[in-house]
Amino acid sequence: MEGALIARDRVGIQDFVLLDETTEVAVLSNLKKRFSKDLIYTYIGTLLVSVNPYKELDIYNKKQMEIYMGVNFFELPPHIYALADNAYHTMLTEFNNHFILISGESGAGKTEASKKILQYYAVSCPSTTLLNTVRDKMLMSNPVLEAFGNAKTLKNDNSSRFGKYMDIQFDSQGDAVGGHILNYLLEKSRVVHQNHGERNFHIFYQLVEGGSDDLLRKLGLERGCQHYNYLTQGECAILPSINDKNDWKTVKNALQVINFDEAATNHLFEVIASVLHLGNVRFDSDSKGYTLLSNNTELRWVSNLLGVDAHSLQEGLTFRKIEAKKDQVLSPFTTDHAIYARDALAKAIYGQTFTWLVNRINESMENKDPSRKTVIGLLDIYGFEVFYVNSFEQFCINYCNEKLQQLFIQLTLKSEQEEYEAEGIEWEPVQFFNNKIICDLIEEKHRGIISVLDEECLRPGDATDLTFLERLEEMMGNHPHFVTHKLADKMTRKTLERGDFRLLHYAGEVTYCVVGKRNHNELLGIMTLVLCVQVATQFKSSLQKLTEILMAKEAWYIRCLKSNESKQPGQFDEALIRHQVKYLGLMEHLRVRRAGFAYRRKYDIFLKRYKPLCPATWPHWRGPPADGVEVLVQHLGYLPDEYKMGRTKIFIRHPRTLFATEDAYEK
Ligand code: ATP
Ligand code: MG
Repeated sequence: MEGALIARDRVGIQDFVLLDETTEVAVLSNLKKRFSKDLIYTYIGTLLVSVNPYKELDIYNKKQMEIYMGVNFFELPPHIYALADNAYHTMLTEFNNHFILISGESGAGKTEASKKILQYYAVSCPSTTLLNTVRDKMLMSNPVLEAFGNAKTLKNDNSSRFGKYMDIQFDSQGDAVGGHILNYLLEKSRVVHQNHGERNFHIFYQLVEGGSDDLLRKLGLERGCQHYNYLTQGECAILPSINDKNDWKTVKNALQVINFDEAATNHLFEVIASVLHLGNVRFDSDSKGYTLLSNNTELRWVSNLLGVDAHSLQEGLTFRKIEAKKDQVLSPFTTDHAIYARDALAKAIYGQTFTWLVNRINESMENKDPSRKTVIGLLDIYGFEVFYVNSFEQFCINYCNEKLQQLFIQLTLKSEQEEYEAEGIEWEPVQFFNNKIICDLIEEKHRGIISVLDEECLRPGDATDLTFLERLEEMMGNHPHFVTHKLADKMTRKTLERGDFRLLHYAGEVTYCVVGKRNHNELLGIMTLVLCVQVATQFKSSLQKLTEILMAKEAWYIRCLKSNESKQPGQFDEALIRHQVKYLGLMEHLRVRRAGFAYRRKYDIFLKRYKPLCPATWPHWRGPPADGVEVLVQHLGYLPDEYKMGRTKIFIRHPRTLFATEDAYEK
């Protein structure tokens, strides 16, 4: 059966572009109506909106995949498979590169979405035995990276604590021939500290719960998470919703698929075990307040497992080395310092291991014949974050979101404009908020926040959190998107503490803590994290690279919405959804799509569907399809103002015009 060309469901409307009015109320009501019938997907043109159902829906199986393979985007109800398929077929016919940007807040369903896309490609692309192995590796890289990079948080039991961009490489036949992953900003602080109700990375629990007796003995570990300081701070190590023993088996199996032989696997777990041992290293203070190791056993295990000298390790954790002329002087740490050094080492070890793991996975997925390939990139990246106390990590995450919003603005506007130009259609651009001003505020050379941070940290002498903040106040004094206690007017001042600065992000206000505050024994604050300078600059350049990678490709968007905060199936929290609709820029996107022409179709497709409505075009139109369409719409009484004829497509201004035509067709 030929489906409706304009997507109108029994329930609600399948494409927001076709709503009668573009108000937030109308958008929300349409989403809600559809969600109540388990229709979690809706389009805005080719952008896919998805609402997390928090329950298994019977829409992700082979049969469903087959329904969507090679079918025109708008002919079937919205689905993530339709988007995946459309990107794939466009890539094959136009032989160009694409990316799918998946965004949304924590728990909205980004990672699930990216897995569904990967599964779709694994099933739908043509296959040969040889290439199956590449495919398996791509699929199996997921459980491994999730074990090492995901954790239970208050918002999501399987929260990704790193950003991920994965290229899937296809040859000219459409076979998946290779893959490559780039990872961003792993949340390393989680290795040593977890908030109440949160866990460390899954892999630690999997190892101590699922590892064989023999393996644990070799690693000097005891069975059970309760033995390890780094695993119990959140007081929720064991959860009904997570089966660490089973997951352990999955990960072990996946490691084999991605070419980890026994030696490499052992090595990996030795390093993971060493972090657990480090967390159990304790210190006492002597009579002068200097630190002493309380017990050597744990440290010996660390030294064994990592193959480093026990004595040097101990010295490194309890003494500071001071270079004095030609000599080295050892000055003892206080216990606080020793704990800081221990935790810093644990974080560094884990961070390096994660990078190593990603590199190994990349080697195993490498495309052996890189000639003639096109790619589809999948970007699953952390959404905008606002907490009660926001520190450096949130600053980076929100900066990343500003950049992606900027990219979105450029690409959507650009492609819309290009389409009108290519088709020879006049149009007036829509006005909306351009967040470039905020990107500049953060990253501009010599003047942006990151540059100031850089300079302050390099300044010899007495740079502190406070001088950094003062310098920011000096530089950003009049900036409309920056405010501090000192710069604020009376009303705003009441809501700002000294030592904080606030940015007016495109998605809302966020207050960042600069001057360290004691919170759960962790020092928060931007400058306090000494390493953040390097990280901020490095992060800025890796985002720059990512932007370049993406700019060179054709964009597809999936916007994931979280339906409720309590992970309940079927609950639609209207206030929560309204907020996400706002900051994901859905209304703006909708307006851009509608500003010019809400609807456009290639002449031949339009004619094929509606030709029965006009005696002159039925049953056959002999002549150019464009002329047939002209005759057809004249006959239907389209007013000159309602449509434009482009080079290959008809553009229709209002959805109601098309609705009327579709109604006539159905009758
Ligand atoms: P984070 O930013 O924390 O990584 P996320 O956006 O990646 O969050 P997911 O891990 O993809 O969120 O989803 C959270 C949970 O929501 C999943 O573990 C699953 O239980 C449920 N979920 C998400 N998408 C779907 C879906 N399409 N169908 C059924 N359940 C889903
Ligand atoms: Mg995720």
